[in-house]
This record gives sequence, C-alpha cells and structure tokens, in this order.
Amino acid sequence: MRTTNYLLSTQKEAPSDAVIVSHQLMLRAGMIRKLASGLYTWLPTGLRVLRKVENIVREEMERAGVVEILMPVVQPADLWVETGRWDKYGGELLRVKDRHTRDFVLGPTHEEVVTELVRKEVNSYKQLPLNLFQIQTKFRDETRPRFGVMRAREFTMKDAYSFHLEQECLEKTYQNMYAAYCRIFERLGLEYRPVIADTGSIGGDASHEFHVLAQSGEDAIVFSNESDYAANVEKAEALAPTFDRPAATAEVTTIDTPNVHSIEEVCAALNVEATQVVKTLLVEGSCEEGETAPVVALVLRGDHNLNEIKAENIEGIASPLLFATEAQIKAAANCDAGSIGPKGLTIRTIVDRSAEKLADFICGANETGKHLAGVNWDRDITDYEVADIRDVVEGDASPCGQGTLSIARGIEVGHIFQLGTTYSEAMKAAVLNQQGKNQTLTMGCYGIGISRIVAAAIEQSNDKNGIIWNDTLAPFSVVIVPMNMKKSHRVAELAEKYYAELQAAGIEVLLDDRKERPGIMFADAELIGMPHTLVIGDRSIDNGVIEYKDRQSGEKQEVKIDEVIDFIK
Ligand code: ATP
Ligand code: MG
Ligand code: MG
Ligand code: MG
Repeated sequence: MRTTNYLLSTQKEAPSDAVIVSHQLMLRAGMIRKLASGLYTWLPTGLRVLRKVENIVREEMERAGVVEILMPVVQPADLWVETGRWDKYGGELLRVKDRHTRDFVLGPTHEEVVTELVRKEVNSYKQLPLNLFQIQTKFRDETRPRFGVMRAREFTMKDAYSFHLEQECLEKTYQNMYAAYCRIFERLGLEYRPVIADTGSIGGDASHEFHVLAQSGEDAIVFSNESDYAANVEKAEALAPTFDRPAATAEVTTIDTPNVHSIEEVCAALNVEATQVVKTLLVEGSCEEGETAPVVALVLRGDHNLNEIKAENIEGIASPLLFATEAQIKAAANCDAGSIGPKGLTIRTIVDRSAEKLADFICGANETGKHLAGVNWDRDITDYEVADIRDVVEGDASPCGQGTLSIARGIEVGHIFQLGTTYSEAMKAAVLNQQGKNQTLTMGCYGIGISRIVAAAIEQSNDKNGIIWNDTLAPFSVVIVPMNMKKSHRVAELAEKYYAELQAAGIEVLLDDRKERPGIMFADAELIGMPHTLVIGDRSIDNGVIEYKDRQSGEKQEVKIDEVIDFIK
C-alpha cells in the first residue's frame, strides 16, 4: 500500500470526550470515526487490525472443530416471544417494524436464531454434538455507550453455540472452548485472566468471563497469584447465601430543573455548594444538549478528587455532572418534582456501595466459596472503592490456601456459558435419541468481543508517541519512510525496490510516498504503531546502509542495503 492511495487520517489531538487512551489513540491514528453515539466507521487502518483479530479467532474456532455460519442481523420478534426475552430483555434490545408493521429486533445475540436453525436441521442424535459460530455485527442499545468501540452500540462479536444430547458432552465442549479462548488471547499477545462469571439472565449452570487486564477496565477482578479459580460477584453471592450483599438503594425520581447548562446552575437548583462535595452523580445514557438526561448517582465516601471527574469526559453526554452531599441528594431526590422547576435533569438511580461492605463481601464469599480466589464486580465500582477494598483484601491468603490475592481492573473480552436446556426447552428443540425417543437438546454459548479486543490491546500497549502493535495485530508490519523521495532518484529507487521485494515476500508494507517532512512521517509511523520502520536517505545510502527503527524497543540500527529484506524477514 502507498500512503498516497491510502486514507491515513491521523490527528494531533483527540476530542475531549475520548477519555481512555485506546479511544484517543484509535481516533488519532485514524482507525475509527464516530458517526453517532456508539456507532463507528472503521477506517482502513482500524479495519486491518480488526480483520487480524477476526482471522485469529476464526482459525482457532476451526481448529477447535467449530463450523462457521452467518445469521441475519434482523430477527423476527416471534422467536424472542417464544423464549420470553421479547419482554425480559429490556432497553438494550432495539425493536423495529417492517412495512407490514411486523415486529423485528436488531440482534444483540443469536440464541433464538441458532436454536430455530438447529431445531429444523438436526433431527437425530447422530448429528450431534454440533458447534456453530459466526463473526457478525451485533446491536445493543447500551445505556451508556462510551470508550469508543469498547462499549459501542453496534459492534463485532464472534458468537458460537453448541448442541448436545447430554450435559457430559456439553462439559467436554465447554472445556475445549475454554482452551481455545486461552489460545486466542495468548496468540493476540494479551495479558488476560479467565474468571468465573454469573450466568445472570441467560441462565444455565456454568460460565467464565475472559478479562484483559487494564487500568481502564470497567470491571474489577480479584484473583490469586497461584490458583486459577476466579469468579464474579453474583456467582460469589450464590456460593455465600448467608452473606448479605450490600444492597444497592435505587430510587427513581425526577428532578426538574429549569434550563440547566452548567454545574453551577445544577448546584443552585439543588441548593448545593460545589465546595462541600462528597458525592458524584454520573450521567447515564447519551442525550443531546437540552434533552433530559437520566442520571446515576455513585455515592463516594471520604475525600475524593472530584475535579478529575468531568462531564465532558463522558462520551455522548451534554449535561453536566452533579456534585452534592448525600443528604442533599436524598433531599433532592425526595423532593416534589414540581418544586424545582419545569424541565431539566432526571435522577434515576442512586447506588450506595460502601467499600467496607464490599470488602467484607469478598472475604465472606471467599471463605464460603472454599476455592474462590477471584471475583468480578460489576462495572459500577469506582476506582476510589477499588483502592479502598485493596487495603482490606490484597495480600490476604486465598481461602484455598494457594497464593495471595490481588485486585486488578479488567475488560471483559470473552464470555462462555453452559446454557443447559433454557432455550431448547422454550423453543422445543429436540432430537431422536438412541432409544428413538425425543430428547431436548443441551446447549452452550461462547462470545468474544472482536472489536472490543482491538481497543483492549491498545490499552495494554502504548506510549506517549502512540500505539505499539505486536507483529500479530499490526495494520502493517513495515513502513518505508523515504526522505526526499521526490528529489532523490536514488532514494526513490531503493524505496520502490524494498516495497516490491517486501510485498513479494508476503510482508505487509506501507510506502510513505507523501510529500511530507520526515518528522511528520516518523510521527505518523509511531502513532499508528508500525512495528518496523525503514528510513531511506541519501546520506545513509552513501554509507551503504539504511536506518531501521524498532517501535517496541525504540532502538535504531543501521542495516546494510543488501541485507534489509532478510533482516526484516
Ligand atoms: P458487558 O458486561 O461489557 O456489557 P456483556 O456481558 O453484556 O458485556 P456478552 O453478552 O457476554 O457481553 O457478550 C460477549 C462479548 O461481547 C463480551 O464479552 C464483550 O467482549 C463483547 N461486548 C458486549 N457488549 C459490547 C459492546 N457494547 N461493545 C463492544 N463489545 C461488546
Ligand atoms: Mg452488556
Ligand atoms: Mg458482562
Ligand atoms: Mg458477558
């Protein structure tokens, strides 16, 4: 590829609504562009990386004996009515009507569609087990789309679904998929942790999440440095039924404030002094300026640097954050809506989590869970609380006696479930067994967030100059930077020669043939994270060498002109 034919689209600055580094760098490196809240266009550089992730996932699925299919994004509502999820799924499910006013959904997941397929295509135990996957666009109308493609509304997922006669067979496939997931994340070069997860509304018996460790992760996980056992908080709760989980106190109240556009105005409307703050209200969901914004209040205790939390740092949010004391929020929440004013902000939930209670909870769960050495809280936990919990928990021996506990933040990149018969029963998916009797199928499902992985990989590998790709994920392996290509015949010739030879060797190479200053070309190569840069200039040609730079180590070295291709290979 030549830069002059390409859409490079690099930027010096990221917009202020990009708060995490991967989001900033994906925008700056010209990987993605926002179309609307949670909707992104993949530019060529981003798409090349996305495809690499996809290909590794596809290869490992095929290696694990999973067969690729492709199901429609648009799904008839009837199937969702059959499983009861038409009513249960809630606001994340985008519902649409066709011209005949029939109901459809944009698929947030595909259990219904795949079960419909299998109940028609598979009739005998002889066709089992069967494991099908697809790599496809999902749509979830997330309440709070943010962090770019990390939590988008439209995103790419690999989802697989397995069908079995017996639980035992499901367990075998589940283990096989678990191992395939480990291979995938290892090949991608990510630092990750599998943790036991709650099966939640999907139901079923066993479930694991795979988390990429990163400070910006929305989940917090606790794990032992030796045992591999890990779990999330809902699972832990099931294991510790006697333990009282700190209840989230939710209040749904509307506060109408007239034309609120600034924190000062909000404080005034709530009769709150900005200096007395011990509370943060985070705006939930996206809204246009002037619209009513649902608000989530996270209750923070003690000193907290509220200046770090700014409304403009939250993607898609036009409304300001509210800062208030607990008493003031309670007073405001209980007040008569009419008493504040005609229009403005809505307070939807107030979540009260005390760090101490959570720490207690984790210890309690660990004791009861015997081998439990890992916990995944849901994403509402704040850094403040994590730090607090860390004081209480970190370093304690894990209950199974293996290793000590540590706490980390995680990005959920994969999730596998043993579904059992939840969907097959509801949808009457059965086959004839060996005895010639109808037997309901047992199912598993296995998801990987393909597009989220791209962002997660950047969270784990970047520096002040930009992204640092490994050779597996890099959009291009090599970039050729010719200095003065337009003026120097020798430079142009050598650049073209390397370009042709690297392509012939099957190496992905970008020839930066722009009329730009070398500084700009170097900065772009670093920002995009090209692993290998070849700098070609008249002066080094005189010495019979070219200059090579390794992005990962930052080291430069001279390579003899004739040895460049072998060196790169
Ligand atoms: P989360 O807890 O982050 O909302 P989830 O548990 O709802 O994710 P699953 O239903 O388990 O997601 O879907 C499988 C995978 O799809 C997730 O592990 C994640 O990697 C990815 N994923 C889910 N929601 C999104 C999203 N809004 N944007 C990008 N990737 C997503
Ligand atoms: Mg979700
Ligand atoms: Mg989740
Ligand atoms: Mg999940």
